[in-house]
Amino acid sequence: MNIHITGCGIAGITTALALSESNNNIIIWEKEKLPGMYATSKNAAIFRTYESDPTLSFIAKQSYYEIEKIEKTEGPLLNKTGIFIDPMEYDYHETPYLKKFPDASAISSEKKRIELPGGKSIEGLYLASNGVLDTHALVSILMKKIIANGVTINFNSEITSLETDQKIISFTVNSNQIINLNDNDIFINAAGSWAPSLLKKNQQWAPPVIPHKRHLFFIKGATPLPVSIPVIWSEKQDFYIRPETGGFLASHCDQKACNPDDYNSDPKEVNNFLNALLYHYPFFEDYRIAKYWACIRTFALDHHPVIGYDPFINNLFWVSGWGGRGMTIATGIINNIKDIFFKNLKTPFSPERFI
Ligand SMILES: Cc1cc2nc3c(=O)[nH]c(=O)nc-3n(C[C@H](O)[C@H](O)[C@H](O)COP(=O)(O)OP(=O)(O)OC[C@H]3O[C@@H](n4cnc5c(N)ncnc54)[C@H](O)[C@@H]3O)c2cc1C
Repeated sequence: MNIHITGCGIAGITTALALSESNNNIIIWEKEKLPGMYATSKNAAIFRTYESDPTLSFIAKQSYYEIEKIEKTEGPLLNKTGIFIDPMEYDYHETPYLKKFPDASAISSEKKRIELPGGKSIEGLYLASNGVLDTHALVSILMKKIIANGVTINFNSEITSLETDQKIISFTVNSNQIINLNDNDIFINAAGSWAPSLLKKNQQWAPPVIPHKRHLFFIKGATPLPVSIPVIWSEKQDFYIRPETGGFLASHCDQKACNPDDYNSDPKEVNNFLNALLYHYPFFEDYRIAKYWACIRTFALDHHPVIGYDPFINNLFWVSGWGGRGMTIATGIINNIKDIFFKNLKTPFSPERFI
């Protein structure tokens, strides 16, 4: 069987890893010249195991263990600066999870008050073992693994059209190379923000996976803050900020539905960001924006990933809608992908939940 995967972002890479231990021929088609050039390399890289969504909660915690395993051979990936969260919704799965896996106590949260400069403080939950993930190192480690497992990766290869009936019959690469699928072949759609449009171009059904734009800002100051701060993620203020070499990376958590290829930043968001930053954290008044960019988070309507066989096209498998947690869940979701693919399991991730 040939398994064709569209997209070499974190979703395509982890899918290739999940399926590459079997005896199948796996081929990734990526339109850019390098892996992960969109959401996978332009995100905030915050790794948090505290997750209110019951399904994602377990997977995020599982990811922590997988990251620890990788670190044993590959060196540090997670900096564990600690995350302070002021949550909107609680992770009711933390206590049962810790009861079931007592040696997981490293990922437990504790109530804490954080003192900030200027006599300010905030209260919430603190996770000492969470922090910032080295996403570039993670991608290169996973790429090495899939190459070692025999996966072929074709860069500069955009899938420009599909020929479909009740199955995908063929697809075209760079508008000139036609690849015909054999009877058992599977086509996997891991095209990030482009995933639905790849099918809709062809008037085919696609799950409601909607691209949303978000901006990130790197700020720098002439003098360091008088206290060191961990990653601060206030869901109530809709704002996060974290230390980054030479400054801080922050977002006012804007999100606007957008076209799949609209990666342009919007200068209007600069004012919105500065207003939010200085309102919540006035001690950054001497800081300046050194760089900012926009990138796209792609969500299904219920904010769960979409992983499973298409309900109408039987050789099409979706790995899409990884939203705002894709880097965190990547290592923990590999076994789920394998089970759903090989056992055709129906799960809360199945695309057919939308029909
Ligand atoms: C601003 C921002 C902040 C974020 N912060 C965090 C965070 O702190 N923590 C966290 O865990 N997650 C975070 N995320 C989420 C995370 O980055 C995403 O969930 C994840 O990267 C999605 O991966 P993907 O592989 O689905 O998409 P992508 O990385 O976009 O990959 C899709 C790939 O498909 C390719 N492609 C598309 N169409 C075609 C085609 N027709 N032919 C060939 N190739 C094609 C693209 O070139 C691309 O390489 C953030 C995301 C954003 C945007």
